[in-house]
Amino acid sequence: MSILALFVSLVLLLSASTYVGELTDAASARARAQTAADSAALAAAAESAPYGSSSPFSAAVHYAQLNGGVLRDCICFSGATAVQVEVEVDGASAWARAVIDPTKLLPAAPGGLDPRLQGAVDALLVAGGGRIWLESGYRTPERQRELWADALGRYGDAELADDWVARPGTSMHERGLAVDLGGDAEYAWRLVVELGLPLTRPMSWEPWHFELEAAAAG
Ligand SMILES: [Zn+2]
Repeated sequence: MSILALFVSLVLLLSASTYVGELTDAASARARAQTAADSAALAAAAESAPYGSSSPFSAAVHYAQLNGGVLRDCICFSGATAVQVEVEVDGASAWARAVIDPTKLLPAAPGGLDPRLQGAVDALLVAGGGRIWLESGYRTPERQRELWADALGRYGDAELADDWVARPGTSMHERGLAVDLGGDAEYAWRLVVELGLPLTRPMSWEPWHFELEAAAAG
């Protein structure tokens, strides 16, 4: 597992549903489920990060098992900066969410796009023949602050704003590792697959947002 600066916040602790036994045993199962969930979430986040192996799901499965648990759910996309898992141990289940703090990662390309991302996007735009263009690439922290403030004004709620714009200091755009494309996003994705470009779309709700594949960034 990569050494990364991560932090875990516990989202929800569900009580045992099917476990029948001493109260202390149930409490112990819950505690072990939480430990297994924390471990799985951290492992998945590390593998999802730019320097990971790009397989957060299998990391979560593996680390849940190492802690005597079974992975029940994993909201984990390669390249995403947050993962959420549910792990079950002896009938007790627990959730954990691990968030990568991008400010702890060294910027891959200070002041611009990562050259590997730039190369892949250039190839994509050429192949796109005008049907795809670069809408937003590298952003300064000031620009990210403006975008987030705009979103807050538009949605009137910080949590809703977070769904659409990363908080300043947490965007892959600020690290030069993400681009937003304009034009036909589905055509762009077909070309990525056809040409074998090292790009991913980590967020299904933002089909225009492309990042460098974790394996390519590592
Ligand atoms: Zn984006």
